[in-house]
Amino acid sequence: MVVVGAGPGGAAAAHFLSAHGLDVLLLDRAEFPRDKTCGDGLTPRALRVLREMGLLGAVAQRGWRVDAYEVVAPNGRATTAAITAEPGALVIPRHTLDEMIVRQAIESGAGFLDGVGVNRVEPAPTQATVHADDGRIFHARVVVIATGAATGVLTRSGMLRHKPRHMLAMRAYFGDIQHEVAHTFQLRLDGAPMPGYGWIFPVDSKVANVGVAFMPGRRSPAASLAFERFIRGAAVQSMLEDSRRLGPVKGYPIRTDFLRSPTCAERTLLVGEAAGLVNPLTGEGIDYALESGRLAAEHLVDLFQQGELATERLTAYHALLHARFQKIFQFGEWVRDWYGHAPLVNVLVALANRRPELRQLLTNIVLGEREPRGYRPATMLARLVIYLASCQLSAVSHQGQRDERHGPTVADRHKTC
Ligand SMILES: Cc1cc2nc3c(=O)[nH]c(=O)nc-3n(C[C@H](O)[C@H](O)[C@H](O)COP(=O)(O)OP(=O)(O)OC[C@H]3O[C@@H](n4cnc5c(N)ncnc54)[C@H](O)[C@@H]3O)c2cc1C
Repeated sequence: MVVVGAGPGGAAAAHFLSAHGLDVLLLDRAEFPRDKTCGDGLTPRALRVLREMGLLGAVAQRGWRVDAYEVVAPNGRATTAAITAEPGALVIPRHTLDEMIVRQAIESGAGFLDGVGVNRVEPAPTQATVHADDGRIFHARVVVIATGAATGVLTRSGMLRHKPRHMLAMRAYFGDIQHEVAHTFQLRLDGAPMPGYGWIFPVDSKVANVGVAFMPGRRSPAASLAFERFIRGAAVQSMLEDSRRLGPVKGYPIRTDFLRSPTCAERTLLVGEAAGLVNPLTGEGIDYALESGRLAAEHLVDLFQQGELATERLTAYHALLHARFQKIFQFGEWVRDWYGHAPLVNVLVALANRRPELRQLLTNIVLGEREPRGYRPATMLARLVIYLASCQLSAVSHQGQRDERHGPTVADRHKTC
C-alpha cells in the first residue's frame, strides 16, 4: 500500500494500516519535520483520534489547552461557550504535531520517504502505479492520496477536472504578547471579509497564531490585504500591542468542497483535505483528516481480510464518508451561505447570549459533536423569525410590566434581542 502525503490524514492512514499488519509506504514531497500553514487548533474530534493512536498524552504535554470558543460578531459583541466535549481541545504548532504523527506511523511499521514529490497515480484493475517527480515508480495494491489542498496529483491523475472553489487563508505567529492569553479559541467576524472570519489562537502564554480565512467573491480583497486589515482592527491591535511577529505571514488555500468532491477511484482512496474535508464554517480540517485516515484504513483492512478489492467494494468508502460527515458539511455550508452576513450574525450572537442552551448547542454542532437537525435554510429562517417574534412579544409584555412598576429591572436590561 502506498500513502501519498504525510499530513495528519496520510500519516493516520499509514499508522492504522500498519498497526493492522499491512505493508505501507508513506511518501511526502517535503522534508520532515515541515511546517504547514494552519491555525494549529485541535478539536475534541481530533484529540479522540490521537488518543486512539496513543498520542494524546504527548500532544497534550506539548500543546496549549483550550476550554472555550469565543465568537465576536461584526458589531463587536461577543458570545462564549465552554468546550465540554471530551477530551477537550488544544493548540499545537503543526511543525510539532505532524512530525509526532509521522513518527507514530513509522513506529507502527510504516516505511517513510520524505523529499519525494509525486506526479500522478495511475490506477489499473489489479494495482495502482505511483509516478514520482524524480522518475521513480512505486506499485501498490491500493493508493491512499492525502495531498491536502494541493490539487496537482488529483488533476494529473484524472480525478479532478476543475479546480475546486476554495477559501483563502493567511496566518502569522505573534510573540511577546502582553495581554493575558486566554485558554480560548477566538473567532472574530469583525474586520474579516465575509463569509469568513479571523482567529486568535493561543499557542502558549506569550504566543498566538493569528489569521484570516474567507470564501473569496468578486469584490473580495487579496488574502494579504485581508490579513493586514484584520490585524489593524482596533480590538486585535490592542491585543497584539507591543507584540512582535515571529516569522513570515503565510497563506494557503482551504478546500471545503467535500459535498462535491470525488473520494475514490479504481484502487485509490482520498483522505482529508484531498477529499475536501474541511469544516466550511470553522476551517477546521485536522480532525476530519485524522478521522478519514482512520476510516480509509479500517475499510481497507476489512477488504483485505475478505480478499476483496473489486472497485464497487472499494468505492463503498464514499458512502461511509458521507454517512459520517454529510450532515455536518451540509449544515456548515448552509449556515455559511445563508447566515454569513453581518446583520444576521449580529442577531445570532445576541440570541446566543440570551439562550445558553442555544449557545452550547451551536458550539457542539459547529465542533461536530452534535448532528444538526432541521437545519435546511427554510426551517432555520422560520425558526429565526419565530424566535424574533417571541422576543418582540416578550419585550412588549416586559414594557407593560415596567410601565406598571415605573422603571426597568436588571433582568429587563439584559433582555434585548
Ligand atoms: C491558514 C489555515 C489555517 C487553518 N487552521 C486550522 C485549524 O486551526 N484547525 C484545523 O483543524 N484545521 C485548520 N486548517 C485546515 C488544516 O490545515 C487542513 O485541513 C489539514 O492540514 C488537512 O490535513 P491533510 O492531511 O489532509 O493535508 P495536509 O496537512 O495539507 O498534508 C498534505 C501533505 O501532502 C504533501 N503533498 C502535497 N502534494 C504532494 C505531492 N505532489 N507529492 C508528495 N507529497 C505531497 C504535503 O507536503 C503535505 O505534507 C487551516 C488551514 C489553513 C490554510
